[in-house]
Amino acid sequence: MALDLRSKGGMNIVLLGPQGSGKGTQATLLQEKTCLPKISTGDLLREIAQGRTPLGEKIKSYQSKGLLVPDEIVVEVIKGRVQRKDCKNGFILEGFPRTLIQAEHLGKITAIDKVVVLKISDTEAVSRLSARRQCKKCNAIYGLNNLKINKCTKCGSDLYQREDDKPQAIKKRLKLYKKETEPLIKYYGKKVVEIDGSKSIENVLNNILKKLGV
Ligand code: AMP
Repeated sequence: MALDLRSKGGMNIVLLGPQGSGKGTQATLLQEKTCLPKISTGDLLREIAQGRTPLGEKIKSYQSKGLLVPDEIVVEVIKGRVQRKDCKNGFILEGFPRTLIQAEHLGKITAIDKVVVLKISDTEAVSRLSARRQCKKCNAIYGLNNLKINKCTKCGSDLYQREDDKPQAIKKRLKLYKKETEPLIKYYGKKVVEIDGSKSIENVLNNILKKLGV
């Protein structure tokens, strides 16, 4: 059942966690449960990267190597997105902020109410990411439980393995998470709720909803 958080005063939520912790999956489920819009910087940036513009090419060159896209680009993209009308009563940010500088910029744009941190081990993250496939069209994610599927069950498009889900890029991304993103847990202090991300999708979702008090 959906709990329309927009009519309950709204909530600005940030989802943090290493690559493969299930942020994308949980953000989609939370969007369905709470009616708040999900904003994924990875998806937004990939969409821009698909257009053959100089900005798109620049973004692609960082994303394909598993490197962070420069703060000034990502901040502008997010700024434009969270100021849109559908975010008036809250949103679920997935993949942003990823650095202290981004968090400081975000704080100037809007206040954050809760920060959900999904925790998993490096071993689990690598095995999940190596098996991950994503839909070319609607960005739906397929993991270890769906290894035999090669077409999206939602829109019928082809699935592909992202360049940054290949082993070398995965290691780089996990290292970057520890260095650049983990310090945000301290930065957000009492707003943080920590969740064991190694549990089943349903279990993780229920734990998040419980901790958010919805
Ligand atoms: P994701 O889908 O969240 O794993 O993001 C995929 C890639 O998009 C990352 O490896 C970065 O290259 C880029 N990206 C996404 N979010 C950010 C961010 N907040 N800051 C910098 N780069 C980002």
